[in-house]
Amino acid sequence: MSILNGGTQDGRNRMKTIGHWIQGKPTVGGSGRVGPVYNPARGVPAAEVVFASPAEVEDAVTSAVGAAEGWGMSSLSQRSGMLFRLRELVDAHREDLAAIITAEHGKVRADALGEVARGLECVEFACGIPHLLKGAHSSEVSRGVDVHTLLQPVGVVAGITPFNFPVMVPLWMMANAIACGNAFILKPSEKDPSASLLLAELVQRAGIPDGVLNVVQGDVEAVTTLLTHPDVDAISFVGSTPVARHIYETGTAAGKRVQALGGAKNHMVVLPDADVDAAADAAISAGYGSAGERCMAISVVVAVGAVADPLVEAIAARIPKVVVGPGDDEASMMGPLITAQHRDRVRSYVEAAAGEGARVVVDGTSGRSEGFFLGCSLVDDVRPGMRVYDDEIFGPVLSVARVDTYDEAVALINANPYGNGVALFTRDGGAARRFERDVEVGMIGINVPIPVPVAWHSFGGWKASLFGDAPIYGPEGIRFYTQPKVVTSRWPDATPSQLDLGFPTTR
Ligand code: NAD
Repeated sequence: MSILNGGTQDGRNRMKTIGHWIQGKPTVGGSGRVGPVYNPARGVPAAEVVFASPAEVEDAVTSAVGAAEGWGMSSLSQRSGMLFRLRELVDAHREDLAAIITAEHGKVRADALGEVARGLECVEFACGIPHLLKGAHSSEVSRGVDVHTLLQPVGVVAGITPFNFPVMVPLWMMANAIACGNAFILKPSEKDPSASLLLAELVQRAGIPDGVLNVVQGDVEAVTTLLTHPDVDAISFVGSTPVARHIYETGTAAGKRVQALGGAKNHMVVLPDADVDAAADAAISAGYGSAGERCMAISVVVAVGAVADPLVEAIAARIPKVVVGPGDDEASMMGPLITAQHRDRVRSYVEAAAGEGARVVVDGTSGRSEGFFLGCSLVDDVRPGMRVYDDEIFGPVLSVARVDTYDEAVALINANPYGNGVALFTRDGGAARRFERDVEVGMIGINVPIPVPVAWHSFGGWKASLFGDAPIYGPEGIRFYTQPKVVTSRWPDATPSQLDLGFPTTR
């Protein structure tokens, strides 16, 4: 029985069926509801994914509750040993995971391997869990009194993930959640669900007990059941801003701990002293990499002063060199978009831009008949109030906003409702130092276009890019997936009884 078809083959159309993973076993459940999973490079459905009913989510929660208690009591060295094994297994299956990503998401193989590598870093971080869960200890806070902290698991955590990183984002969450002693239920994107099942199999092969990781496939119905289920203690969400806001409000109203990371509109400021070629290379890679379907993609280049004309020229000159094609073709640099509907939505922004007063320098919207491809588009003279500026496009469309001064650039960024990532290109150390203090954005790159923090820092935006106060992975991930207790203890020598109704003091 193959994991990736959940054990069934539809006899009528021979379409592969992608199922759940509950209590260590693949299952297709019985909801009868399914959705299509496309091969975006060919533009045809390649499989069906089942959508969990509330009863199937209940099965996953029951399994997780059953596993959580024992897992939370397992020794740190046991957990660490299993995570090291998981690290080896993910490493050994890099190519398999990347191939699944390319088949269902469409991104090119090198990019898919990069995604797996960044996810693997989070497993490597979690291998150090014995060190990460060391609580604090204060000795002799008052005479004969010591204080120490305990970090205990939260219990059952659900993770709801987006389509654009089907391996990395689940690993952002599950590596730390499991390492901290929780059971984790993953609800992957229904658009590229297969990678979650290979991850589940690897978790099992690493020796992590059944039920510590369950995967339920599905749509809103599965998410709503998780969000309101009394036995789900915490929710990690990564996706678009409207859904992130809904998840945060609903989950917290149901008394859960929630971190909800949302969408983005990332700016890259280029100061007049910047190296124009380096900035143009960076804009191309951060704007069009993964077809712009990254929450840290650069969407708006903010050209300050006289750098604008040479910069636009340099970016436009590079666009014809970007080879667009299927992700499994080694020559391709940029793959297709995730669905036909999303491709058409992205195209609509470029088509509307000229009418809004912007200047379309390169129109990448025509192209192949097969697959969900678009070429790279470059739109100059973009301003707030235009749809092409205001909305998160999530496609290969790079806008250029021209401003006269550094202060105008910062004002533009700070007026934007999102605050995920931002980059500055300059040779001026003083300007860079000021910039990192001035911008209201969570992740900043100085001459680095996609500043995704390494696994031992934490990832999180500001404003409409993050709801709640908990960035994801790294030290903040450990904090989110644990509940602290503070123990104040005294082991007195035998003393005569004494009554004291005063508030405890330390002096
Ligand atoms: P999405 O919000 O449509 O879906 C994310 C998840 O939520 C999926 O699992 C989906 O099934 C579920 N979902 C969708 N609608 C729902 C609803 N109404 N109620 C409950 N659940 C629902 O996002 P997407 O299109 O899969 O991913 C792209 C978005 O994710 C972009 O906005 C991107 O910026 C964002 N993103 C953010 C980060 C970050 O770290 N901030 C990282 C990756 C992607």
